[in-house]
Amino acid sequence: MPSPTDAGGAKSPRPWLDWYRDQRWRGPNGRRIKQLAAEPWCRFHAKRGERVKATTVDHIEPHRGDPDRFWNGALQSLCHHCHSAVKQSHEAGRRFGCDAAGAPTDPSHPWFEGGKRSGKAEGER
Ligand SMILES: [Zn+2]
Repeated sequence: MPSPTDAGGAKSPRPWLDWYRDQRWRGPNGRRIKQLAAEPWCRFHAKRGERVKATTVDHIEPHRGDPDRFWNGALQSLCHHCHSAVKQSHEAGRRFGCDAAGAPTDPSHPWFEGGKRSGKAEGER
């Protein structure tokens, strides 16, 4: 792992934005490519029996800046639209409804908890 060159500078409040630019994520052998190769179709649409090409790789369990979850957590392939719906759900902190786009209603997904998971501390660095 290369050492950061911006030591002493302003710290990004969202270090994972850099992780998404990391070769380990988006490189030719990165997690993103591997996930899309393994699952080329949007998972949410697939649940409805539809085939939509996935363009986005999403963390099933929100990583919330936790590098372990980011690099080791389970992934799913989504189309741009479904991924946006997931994001909005996170930011709004509320449950998914069912929307016209066919957003998932699967209540077993961790993000439906919308908040902290009991027993686990938020990531400390
Ligand atoms: Zn989709």
